[in-house]
Amino acid sequence: MNMVHRSGLIVLSEMLCGGCGRVMKYAERYGYIYCEEEGDGPVRLCADCCRQRGYLSLKKDDKGREKETFL
Ligand SMILES: [Zn+2]
Repeated sequence: MNMVHRSGLIVLSEMLCGGCGRVMKYAERYGYIYCEEEGDGPVRLCADCCRQRGYLSLKKDDKGREKETFL
C-alpha cells in the first residue's frame, strides 16, 4: 500500500513549488506531500499543482459554502 501523507500549510517567506517551479509567496497555501513509497522526501506543491494532482478538493462546510480542503 502506498502511504501518502499530506497537509496544507502556509508559506512563511518564499518557497519554490516542487511541481511547476513557481515561486510561492508569503501567506500562500501550499501542500506538503510526503510519499513513503517514492522515498525521495517531501515535496511542496502550490495550490494549482495540488488541485491537478487531486490533493485539494472542494467540500461544503456546515453552512453550505464551498471550501477547498486538503484531503
Ligand atoms: Zn506548482
